[in-house]
Amino acid sequence: MSSDLVIVYHRQPYEEVEENGKTVLRENKSPNGIVPTLKSFFGTAEHATWIAWKLAEDPANPGFEKVVEINDNHGTYNVSRLPLTEAQVKSFYHVSSKEAFWPILHSFKEKFNYDPVDWPTFREVNWAFAEAAAREAGKGARVWVHDYNLWLVPGYLRQLRSDVTISFFHHTPFPAADMFNVLPWRREIVDSLLKCDIIGFHIPRYASNFVAVANSLFDLDDITIGYVAPDLVSDGTALSERRVPTSITQDGRKIAISSASVGVSAAYISGRSEEPELKQKAREIREGMGDERLILSVGRTDYTKGGVDQLESFERVLEDNPDLRGKIKLMHVSVSADRKMSAYARTQTGIEETAGRINGRFGTLEWQPIALISRAIPFEQLLSYYMAADVAWITPLVDGMNLVCKEFVAARSDGDGVLVLSEFAGAAVELHSAVITNPFSHRSMDNAILTALEMPEEERRARMVELRKAVFRYTLDAWAEEHKHQFDVSHAVNS
Ligand code: UDP
Repeated sequence: MSSDLVIVYHRQPYEEVEENGKTVLRENKSPNGIVPTLKSFFGTAEHATWIAWKLAEDPANPGFEKVVEINDNHGTYNVSRLPLTEAQVKSFYHVSSKEAFWPILHSFKEKFNYDPVDWPTFREVNWAFAEAAAREAGKGARVWVHDYNLWLVPGYLRQLRSDVTISFFHHTPFPAADMFNVLPWRREIVDSLLKCDIIGFHIPRYASNFVAVANSLFDLDDITIGYVAPDLVSDGTALSERRVPTSITQDGRKIAISSASVGVSAAYISGRSEEPELKQKAREIREGMGDERLILSVGRTDYTKGGVDQLESFERVLEDNPDLRGKIKLMHVSVSADRKMSAYARTQTGIEETAGRINGRFGTLEWQPIALISRAIPFEQLLSYYMAADVAWITPLVDGMNLVCKEFVAARSDGDGVLVLSEFAGAAVELHSAVITNPFSHRSMDNAILTALEMPEEERRARMVELRKAVFRYTLDAWAEEHKHQFDVSHAVNS
């Protein structure tokens, strides 16, 4: 049966687990996270399909189950799985996407690695996704494509199907033209994106950057500019914009440019944080720390997250403020990535060496300044740390959005806690009541954490009220609603 909604996302919408020697597809338990939100879209469709890739030793093996029917809380839908070999995954995902696109998207020109990119394989994989979408989509269907590793899908899909409504969402930053145009494939990528009906970004800055890139490469007929909502304008953050492109026209086709940030399930997280069991867990963490105050930092091991810079700030603060020694502890969670990628291995080593040096310099038998954790902490447990922390210290050098800081705020139903946030995280556009810091400045970084530690309770609570307003306004559901709306408008315009 053909689908009136097709979601194209590289990850499968369930966990594959082994049970008694058999592979079982299990629904993600937590309603938090992007996959359940995308699946909630299925409620708006008669019949829906999700397209993802799956590792296959031999893609030609007739035993490979390409389409599976899933029946879960979100209804019945198909998952169309593209069989990719290990070599294809390595080339398309680990090399082209992570070594070439990722550094440019995050404005790290010096980390851009062009040489190993196998462009034909990138095209081939994107073509396979587009073909699968074209096969599954019914007449006039909505097709929602996600993230930069599928950049060429809209262009290919448009060649195959002129009738479908295509929306593409970027989950990363989108850089300025001087940076993006480092990519030698820039014209092909942007040409593909211009075949969409809707192109989505987290924040107005990324939308403006995209339009500037498109302008540098193609003759756009028209650009419509609108005002940014007043609560998203702040002089104190680097990523704030006052006006934003809302649509462009090229070759007579109108393309909506959407800025809508991904949020968290605020009500769910806040509700969890009021459960007696989690409250008890948070109390135990606090009691275990005695009089020490807990600074919490959570992220993936990635050079964009600025882990080493943060640890160095902590070292300077301990050096300059001997009275803080023995009184504070930094829990630095940096979930290690795939060591196969050399850039990540170097970052991991940098974090381990810096944290080790600081613990060696200032630690005693009774007190270690840093607890470094490289394993992923289950979300449930993470919630209890959010609830127990005095300060959440979230200082990426560049971050498309950052959900950890929003989760921290949502988990503070007690109204206390301080958020220190980098002005280069997309989330800072909404969360400007945090203590905003510039991770490229030693003075700004050190002052921000000291300000947070010294902040009187009244100020902490007043800031948290504002932060919670923003996190409850820009939720995951609000993001999904905005995209439903964009699809409806585009469908009406183009049909
Ligand atoms: N996370 C987790 N356990 C950890 C560290 C992170 O469950 O030990 C989750 C966290 O709750 C958040 C996500 O991983 O939902 C990270 O999202 P974010 O947008 O902050 O960063 P990304 O990794 O997408 O760049």
